[in-house]
Amino acid sequence: MGALDGRTAVVTGASAGIGRATAQALAREGARVALGARRVERVEGLAGELPGEGHLAHALDVTDGESARAFVDAVTEAFGGRIDILVNNAGLALGRTAIAEGSDEDDEVMWETNVLGLVRMTRLCLRHMDDGRGHVVNLGSWAGREAYAGGGMYVGSKFAVRALTAVLRKELVGRIRVTTVDPGMVGETEFSDVRFAGDADVKAAVYEGVRYLTPDDVASCILFAVTRPDYMVVDELVIKPLQQASQDAIVRDRG
Ligand code: NAP
Repeated sequence: MGALDGRTAVVTGASAGIGRATAQALAREGARVALGARRVERVEGLAGELPGEGHLAHALDVTDGESARAFVDAVTEAFGGRIDILVNNAGLALGRTAIAEGSDEDDEVMWETNVLGLVRMTRLCLRHMDDGRGHVVNLGSWAGREAYAGGGMYVGSKFAVRALTAVLRKELVGRIRVTTVDPGMVGETEFSDVRFAGDADVKAAVYEGVRYLTPDDVASCILFAVTRPDYMVVDELVIKPLQQASQDAIVRDRG
């Protein structure tokens, strides 16, 4: 008997990293999970490996309204019209340059994905959530709580996620649970590959000498939030490695 038996869940950005681990964790607790990402072959592969039955994999680009609608249509058809949990995980950072040296194109992709995509998916899924049972979980970040030089639009987008989470909490009070999970440094994801355009040396320097969090660590926090009783809301979970107090207070093992 799993804690999420009979529940349905949507995970955006389930093709890698935290989204992938979250889909696995939700399925292990008995949820039927819908996995969305642009790399559809990846989510199809994962859906086939998940424990339990009735999972769905479908292409999803959260920046594209048509794609998002087609995804949610497929989910509601497969799940009999009801979505219980939405994990707004799809997100990315591009570059780590000063705002003065950033690019309009990168800023637009980050805003479209991390902010507008999250709002779009929330709006579409809320229509299929029952009061007293639905739950929206947003992946924020420590970058949504502390600005840092070179954080640019990524920091801006994650501050926006935090603000929008607060708006949703007030709009949905008494009906739908709203949680933000805000991690610090998480390794073993593709986040830094994307951010640094595949530059392995820069990526290695980010994680050097730190026992970073893993996607499973973050997934365990999301699972904690969604498995509390329906009357109880975990508003915010802020999680960091022991070796990270803030963006610039990181203790690294040397040698
Ligand atoms: P990741 O391994 O790069 O995974 C990102 C996921 O987002 C991928 O599955 C990717 O799938 C998906 N995605 C990107 N753009 C998308 C779009 N337009 N439509 C649909 N899916 C899209 O990174 P991660 O570390 O797991 O990050 C997941 C979330 O955690 C993000 O919101 C990130 O900001 C947040 N976070 C990460 C860290 C960290 O240190 N890693 C820390 C704090 C917060 P496709 O490319 O297949 O579409």
